[in-house]
Amino acid sequence: MRFRLYGSLTEAYNSARADRRGMLAVHLIPNSFVPRSYCTFFMTSAADLYALQEIDLQRDARRGIIADVELRLGETDELYEAREIVEDSVASLDRMRRRQREFEAQLQDLDAKILPLETKLYDGSVRNPKELTDLQKELDSFKERRQKLDEQGLALIENVESATKALAEARAEVERVETEWQNEQKHLTADKAKAETELKTLDGQRNQRKKGMEAGALGLYEQLRGNKQGRAVARVERGICQGCRVTLPTHLTQRIRVGRELVQCPRCERILVSG
Ligand SMILES: [Zn+2]
Repeated sequence: MRFRLYGSLTEAYNSARADRRGMLAVHLIPNSFVPRSYCTFFMTSAADLYALQEIDLQRDARRGIIADVELRLGETDELYEAREIVEDSVASLDRMRRRQREFEAQLQDLDAKILPLETKLYDGSVRNPKELTDLQKELDSFKERRQKLDEQGLALIENVESATKALAEARAEVERVETEWQNEQKHLTADKAKAETELKTLDGQRNQRKKGMEAGALGLYEQLRGNKQGRAVARVERGICQGCRVTLPTHLTQRIRVGRELVQCPRCERILVSG
């Protein structure tokens, strides 16, 4: 049942007659100092709504945990990056090994040319000095090329060794990141499950708490909760609204203390409850 505050008996009477929904109009002390919209009579008290808000704030917190966990569940950038480093290291090592095989093939080709030349040069089958000199020149040129290839091949072996080491390190890093990630995911899943269980309990408490509360009072509370970052009800301590820190006039604080109506803060509009 909803009560309205009217400035005069006539107004209350006319209004009661006109109100088809059967709202009960009551006449109270003239309230010329308080804007009418800030005081509404409900059976539901500000303390009831404050208790509901306590539950709702806890529900908001649990929902926040669940949303945060959902954002953090799944593979991380760190994991992607660690895996990418391994893939790059594997590709780089493959390239080096291919190059190494090409070198080995080139060396074998050269050896295949050098060996018969040496045989021909030293087995005495060639006696012509001009031909011998040409053979020697050709052999020297092949040997020079072979030496260069050997030097490049040695540098390549060193590169392959350091790339193999880098790959082993990258694989160890992936393993470390994955283990850490799996542990974190386990904790996050547990946190989410805990928050979901708590939310269910709080939902039950909320349903219990709002039993018997009027739709109008709940509507006002929900509307304010939506506009005031979840805090529709504010405590009044030493005459100050704890929602916006405004000092309230004495007649309002008295009404709040009596607790027979829902009084809203003239500045922040929150429902006020005696602190
Ligand atoms: Zn306020």
